[in-house]
Amino acid sequence: MALEEYKRKRRFTKTAEPRGKKKTTASGRLFVVQKHQASHLHYDLRLEHNGVLKSWAVPKGPSLDPGTKRLAMAVEDHPVDYAEFEGTIPEGEYGGGTVMIWDRGTYTPEGIDDVDQALRDGELKLQFTGKKLKGSWVLVRTRNRQWLFIKHRDAHASSRDITAEQPRSVVSRRTLAQIAKDEGGNVEKAARGDVPRPAAASS
Ligand code: MN
Repeated sequence: MALEEYKRKRRFTKTAEPRGKKKTTASGRLFVVQKHQASHLHYDLRLEHNGVLKSWAVPKGPSLDPGTKRLAMAVEDHPVDYAEFEGTIPEGEYGGGTVMIWDRGTYTPEGIDDVDQALRDGELKLQFTGKKLKGSWVLVRTRNRQWLFIKHRDAHASSRDITAEQPRSVVSRRTLAQIAKDEGGNVEKAARGDVPRPAAASS
């Protein structure tokens, strides 16, 4: 049921994205952040829960600074296989552009027995064990599909600009332009996502 919207939006005869079967990983708590140069650059945060990836699009990407709240728009659930996807989506298809596995690892809900209830209540505290994202974070809903993604103050908090300092894939070390080149995508468009943007104070 949860993957109907995912399937409805995509033509699997055109895109190399996974077709969308429910499954689970060994931990059941995988997370991935995919850097996605579509019409605009954004970072897709996905958390494995009950056989799917709960997903948010974060336009400016994660910030390690607890004072910086990043907008995160809830989007449709994705299949767990999607965490393996790095490549191109054909132009003209939904999300057409280049996708990079920017970070991946596992997460642990923090002080939460029931993740579904936390998602309904609009406040999910979690610990990440990724290559780039570590320590304590929170997702807080402000209204409808709009959430904020915020770093908690801990040993992993920092004023460093992680998206600018660590722009490459954690699985292939490639830039967006290299992925587009290897996979027959639009290299010039992908390269626009490789250029660090000036750090913004908020959202
Ligand atoms: Mn996306």
